Amino acid sequence: MNTIIEPFKIKSVEPIYFNTKEERKKILAEAHYNPFLIHSVDVIIDLLTDSGTSAMSSNQWAGIMQGDESYAGSPSFFRFEETIQTITGMPLVIPTHQGRAAEKILFSIMGGKGKYFVSNTLFDTTRANIEFSGAEGVDLLCEEGKHPTIPAPFKGNLDVEQLKKFIAENGAENIPLCVLTVTNNSGGGQPVSMENIKAVKKVCADNNIPMFIDACRFAENAYFIKLREKGYADVSVRDIAKEMFSYADGCTMSAKKDAFANIGGFLAMHSKDLALKCRNLLVITEGFPTYGGLAGRDLEAIAIGLKEVMEESYLHYRIRSIEYLTNKLIAAGVPVMQPAGGHAVYLDAKGFLPHIPVNQYPGQALVGALYIEGGIRGVEIGSLMFGKYDEEHQLVPAQLELVRLAIPRRVYTQSHIDYVAEVIIEVFQHRDEIVGMEITEESEILRHFTAKLKPIK
Ligand SMILES: *Cc1c(COP(=O)(O)O)cnc(C)c1O
Repeated sequence: MNTIIEPFKIKSVEPIYFNTKEERKKILAEAHYNPFLIHSVDVIIDLLTDSGTSAMSSNQWAGIMQGDESYAGSPSFFRFEETIQTITGMPLVIPTHQGRAAEKILFSIMGGKGKYFVSNTLFDTTRANIEFSGAEGVDLLCEEGKHPTIPAPFKGNLDVEQLKKFIAENGAENIPLCVLTVTNNSGGGQPVSMENIKAVKKVCADNNIPMFIDACRFAENAYFIKLREKGYADVSVRDIAKEMFSYADGCTMSAKKDAFANIGGFLAMHSKDLALKCRNLLVITEGFPTYGGLAGRDLEAIAIGLKEVMEESYLHYRIRSIEYLTNKLIAAGVPVMQPAGGHAVYLDAKGFLPHIPVNQYPGQALVGALYIEGGIRGVEIGSLMFGKYDEEHQLVPAQLELVRLAIPRRVYTQSHIDYVAEVIIEVFQHRDEIVGMEITEESEILRHFTAKLKPIK
């Protein structure tokens, strides 16, 4: 059968409020052409992020009621701990309120001036926490990963030869940790192969460098291994995940992704010495070690979500529905990142709007057009997000101009996705009418969240 049916029934619904194109033009202008400034009730299909936006299951909601809010030693913590120990094989589990809180603790301990953290690609909060400690983050993404429209099965892999070279040139003693991000969020949600995880681990072990996994999308990555890597077709996602984690010394995770939770995160590891240091920091920043920054009910929801995310009927639906949207767009000639990643579709704004130069932010122009046409909210990942200025205040553009449409987990149905495809194709057919943007107000750091823009007439 070709039809993807959602592997769930809907028990509770949230209304979508419809507005007209004329109303959306006004709303967008009032939001200064920045999707972060649009109120979510004015959005029809919200693809701003897949983080914290999952629909929880009836089991998770039941878990919420069972949450035990004891300050110390809550049974909710022990269920959370045991679930993570079983999935990762790591004995020491530390709850935090988000992924970045886990990162903050880890890099406060391991970071510092003169140190390098190597990775396939560090996510932006991970890099920010590394840099805040005074250390440097180094991305060593494989060559395939750098070409958005050329398909390859594992475009999230770390370049092992570059890793060896970097260690030889900079000294293993200056590299406290290697971080493998699975799937590679900033690189388009592309997976990392088991072969690559093993090879990276070997180089790290030979040089006495510990390896951690940034595990936000570990189940999506495991499913890609099952689909694409030789020898794994008949292995369960659970066993693939276990093998992935078996090569790691520890992991950080945001439960807002592959745990279907609306908040939460954790650190897990083997080293008692490191865990002791982490818990010492945890107590002053997050909370007592059996709740971290979370309520007992959140611990329950995360424990249940972590099991549900490895159900293969869910992962089949998840990965197929992103591929389905990507393929519809490819068939209509829309330039998109290939192959489809695990959590989002990325439009190539440079290819979509070749008449708009990069210093007029084609990605942001496209985000605005999608909102006006169909009330779809995406986000620019290009020069508004990552561009810098040189001494003459000229834009130094980002490498790519992309628009990310992140798909929340278990939230939208196939007809929502069909609608999204229709809107994008409609905008594509009238792309010549879209004009560039200029910035009228911006802040110095993370400007994309608050920048004000206007169309160039
Ligand atoms: C979201 C994310 C984080 C940070 O997690 P938060 O819960 O948002 O703090 C870290 N790494 C990756 C790969 C992510 O996608």
